Amino acid sequence: MPMKSKSASGPCVEFEMRDVISTCDAKAQRYALSPLAPNGKGVEETLDDQGTRNIKGFMEHLISWRRHRINELRQAGWTRFEKSVAWIFAMNCPPVGVRTNRTGMRPCHEHAICPFCWARYHVAELYFRVIYALYGTTREAHLHSSQGMEFYQPASLDVLTVRTTWWYPMNKFDLSFLFMDMEKTRKLFLQKSIPAARGAYVQYSIEPAVVQDNTLNVWQYTQRVFALIPPFAESPAADVFDDQVACKRIVKRTAGGLREDIARAAGFTCIYPRELMTGPPSLVAALLTQRRGTRMSSYYGILRNKGIRKRQLAF
Ligand SMILES: [Zn+2]
Repeated sequence: MPMKSKSASGPCVEFEMRDVISTCDAKAQRYALSPLAPNGKGVEETLDDQGTRNIKGFMEHLISWRRHRINELRQAGWTRFEKSVAWIFAMNCPPVGVRTNRTGMRPCHEHAICPFCWARYHVAELYFRVIYALYGTTREAHLHSSQGMEFYQPASLDVLTVRTTWWYPMNKFDLSFLFMDMEKTRKLFLQKSIPAARGAYVQYSIEPAVVQDNTLNVWQYTQRVFALIPPFAESPAADVFDDQVACKRIVKRTAGGLREDIARAAGFTCIYPRELMTGPPSLVAALLTQRRGTRMSSYYGILRNKGIRKRQLAF
């Protein structure tokens, strides 16, 4: 089938940006996508409602970028949107964090690569699960206390985020090694390093990267952890050592459960792996093909509860 152009003609609809959404979940989603903002515009701007013109411009930029990227990956052998109907949906996946003139457009659901679906599937869901776990609804809070169940008051748990990145040389480690490691360490890190966590979310990402000081290609492999822990519990150590490869860990913690802080922590945890949009199409297409069907994230403890009202989630 001939490849259609990425222009707004043909099957691509035009999105007209109306408003910037100022809810905390929208801020969390924009935060997570901030590595893709033009001219290296940082996190703060994507969180700031005052910068509405910039946010609208950012989403317009991202709509055409992701259209172009999907076509590039298709040409490089990625078959997910091979059928033309699926491809048309992919071309018209609605943006996040803004209201447009197009309501009711169906998301493409390709959260492995689509920045908008990444934000809906990972960021918004994590945010709402945390809010639900901490605040519940008034009716449920009442029900819990009348049944003698512990109800977590917003201030009673700290928000902890731990992001650990390893750089595995492609010529020494192949992707199956990383997928195996993911299976092994998914729960182990929580058990060993944050045993007091009442609820947690663990997510992994893999992206191709180039090490600065030479031209060695590496898989940048990142474990992202969001945990709700009691104030007395210790945070894991920020320094991490691996005798095989370079690695780095960032640990952040905030007390209490302010929605703004939760949004920031959810955005930080689920920051979009930028190289998926910028890395060599052949490597990214191979990565997406190999990881298909692999679970890259899981919820534990009080965040396992799916009692979120359906309409709160984008899909
Ligand atoms: Zn999508």
